[in-house]
Amino acid sequence: MDSDVLSVTQIDSYHAQTIERKWQRHWEETKAFKTETADTSKAKYYALSMFPYPSGRLHMGHVRNYTITDVIARFKRMNGFNVLHPMGWDSFGLPAENAAIKSGVPPAKWTFENIDHMRAQLKSLGLSYDWDREIFTCREDYYRWTQWLFLLLYKSNLAYKKEAPVNWCESCATVLANEQVIEGKCWRCDSVVIRKNLSQWFLKITDYAERLLEGIDTLEGWPEKVKLMQKNWIGKSSGTILTFPVSRQALKIDVYTTRPDTIYGATYMVLAPEHPLVEKLITSENQARVEAYQLQARTQSEIERTSTEREKTGVPLGFDVINPFTEEKIPLWIADYVLAEYGTGAVMAVPCHDERDNAFAKKYNLPFHPVIDDSGMLIDSGEFSGLPYEEAKAKITAAAESKGFGKSQLQYRLRDWLISRQRYWGAPIPIVYCNSCGTVPVPDSELPVKLPEDVDFSVQGKSPVATSKTFVHTTCPTCQGPATRETDTMDTFICSSWYFLRFIDPHNTTAPFEKAAVQHWMPVDQYVGGVEHAILHLLYSRFITHVLYDHGWTGVTEPFKNLLTQGMVLKDGAKMSKSKGNTVDPDEVFKVYGADTARFFILSDSPPQNDFDWKDAGVEGCYKFLKRVWRLVVDNRASINLALQPPICKNSVYQQAHQTLHGVTQDIGQEFQFNTVISKIRELVNALSKTEPEANDPTFSHAVHILLVLLAPIAPHMTEELWQKLEGQGSIHEQPWPKADLDALVSNTVEIVFQVNGKVRGRAQTERRLNKSQLEQLALQNEQVQKFMDGKPATKVIVVPDKLVNIVIA
Ligand SMILES: [Zn+2]
Ligand SMILES: [Zn+2]
Repeated sequence: MDSDVLSVTQIDSYHAQTIERKWQRHWEETKAFKTETADTSKAKYYALSMFPYPSGRLHMGHVRNYTITDVIARFKRMNGFNVLHPMGWDSFGLPAENAAIKSGVPPAKWTFENIDHMRAQLKSLGLSYDWDREIFTCREDYYRWTQWLFLLLYKSNLAYKKEAPVNWCESCATVLANEQVIEGKCWRCDSVVIRKNLSQWFLKITDYAERLLEGIDTLEGWPEKVKLMQKNWIGKSSGTILTFPVSRQALKIDVYTTRPDTIYGATYMVLAPEHPLVEKLITSENQARVEAYQLQARTQSEIERTSTEREKTGVPLGFDVINPFTEEKIPLWIADYVLAEYGTGAVMAVPCHDERDNAFAKKYNLPFHPVIDDSGMLIDSGEFSGLPYEEAKAKITAAAESKGFGKSQLQYRLRDWLISRQRYWGAPIPIVYCNSCGTVPVPDSELPVKLPEDVDFSVQGKSPVATSKTFVHTTCPTCQGPATRETDTMDTFICSSWYFLRFIDPHNTTAPFEKAAVQHWMPVDQYVGGVEHAILHLLYSRFITHVLYDHGWTGVTEPFKNLLTQGMVLKDGAKMSKSKGNTVDPDEVFKVYGADTARFFILSDSPPQNDFDWKDAGVEGCYKFLKRVWRLVVDNRASINLALQPPICKNSVYQQAHQTLHGVTQDIGQEFQFNTVISKIRELVNALSKTEPEANDPTFSHAVHILLVLLAPIAPHMTEELWQKLEGQGSIHEQPWPKADLDALVSNTVEIVFQVNGKVRGRAQTERRLNKSQLEQLALQNEQVQKFMDGKPATKVIVVPDKLVNIVIA
């Protein structure tokens, strides 16, 4: 825009940074990508990247994720859609609090400084966001609605508090969800996770297990691997409950098994050390060993306890239970390889047909009793002997049912979602405890329950919120008597389980969002993010959307219609990491080559679903290519006139442009195969570079127009600048995506086969639609044909146009 002050050389050469700053400013000032919900003249398209945690700096994984979504958003806009493409911040969470502990910076200050830096980075990448919709999950105007959501769940009996063994990280001094324990270690700090009993808030996601499972089959636009991961996480199994009486006691123990066919091979029973019946079976004789064992089990993580590798341990209780089928007594043990929360917390052990029972029985010298032979038939199983085991499952379950000691049962691996966190930087749980009224939800009118600022971050084992003098003591909303507030905050996965709805109506102060607007925009048409969120975030978001649907807040149960999980960004084949020192800083790349080059490169080498290998030579090559495009347009300025209308000569330039247009449109439209898009664009540029256009060349102008439009979503700044130089109308990003001329897709050359007396003797490439005598001439001039004619005259020539010439000789 200040181009009049630049010298001629500056005008002519490609200055990425100058151009990019210019257009970024322009797009911001004109709100070029603002979305109006009211625009119903166009079909809607909601494109969403998983919003980031404001860690402080963008990494290349972010650049890839956001570029992919941005190209999709720009492509859809040019294809006539009203596109919603927002960005915001998943800004509650532990690192802000750790920074506060370490350096005394308040979490809010740390967080917003990081956001400011990252926002500037996003803007320098030229992403087409509607920035007016920016949201911050840590800000009161957002978390009051997260609290509203909690209360909706509470009032629907989907939030409850219970004493439960939890995963506890000593180093973070907090509870972790099962999903946050990775191979027995804390997902954040890598410390070993232990088990501890605490009173915690849970969300009853298990009530939705079956619907979440059924919903997976409707997600046609999701990768199969993600759907499988979700199915496995929900983990539906069908099995049998069998009831074993305890010998000489008026007690019974329920066992859940998926292998009722092995009941005759059960030679002992195991209870989880935390099983509530254990207390009733403690005697003066077993007390010492049982309590010692319970204590040590508590220090083991769930993953350790269930590992097949680990040596099994346990202690006998000194009681027997009675196998209801054989009426034999079998000994009762406790062992930590059985978990209280899985099944019924009790296992009928079948050492011959279960790996872990086998290891345990070997160690403690317990009996083995095979009941299935090599061909899968039951043996030594009373009336069921001789049955195939699958058939026996049903018959044994039916027998148990008719005799009153069993029944079939569906079971899910999924357990309720533990949301209490003993941390500061999260949304406070809006609950008050009153001595007279008990647990009281904070009324909607009193939201938000604000995070206090007078807290001691260094406190161990409880939430820093509990140290606030202003926060803890309050009055009961019901009886106005003295009361205390819940001091736990919510898991940040709740904040991110509904943010895609808030983007639709981010400034609403009277409701989380307007129902009609959500009705219009949902579901998200294309969601893009890393596969590391395949289980947690996606499952929680699906759960919350189902709940909101049940309460009439959304018109859909499934929030994300299509999901793209992009691969990782590697550096020379290795995962980028700070510790390896092989990270590439996006800012450096923007500074040296510009954002368009970074965008172009990160899409170029592999499909978005695969890992991408960052190579310095590759980024250099992309920069050179964009410079070539620049030169192609600038050097042929006199030949290009975008205002020229047909007649256009449908020559090879025209054909190549339309072939590229057709191919690119298909590659983006179907699977977002940007790598092949880019190689097609490269071929077109190669072809155009070889032509020598005339002044005001309509066909060349047409081809350049197509090239710039195809490149616009990927290199938005450079194409906008060239569009302006060529005096194109408006912004290139508002141009309609052209339609490929399908007639031009047919190749103009054909291969003709030459035969002598019906035998193939030669071939030639020719122009299509040569006439019979032209083809005959070609055949007779062919060296191979001449050799086989051996100087003899043709007695007959048969010509099949565009295909074949057969010369008959005597
Ligand atoms: Zn930790
Ligand atoms: Zn009260």
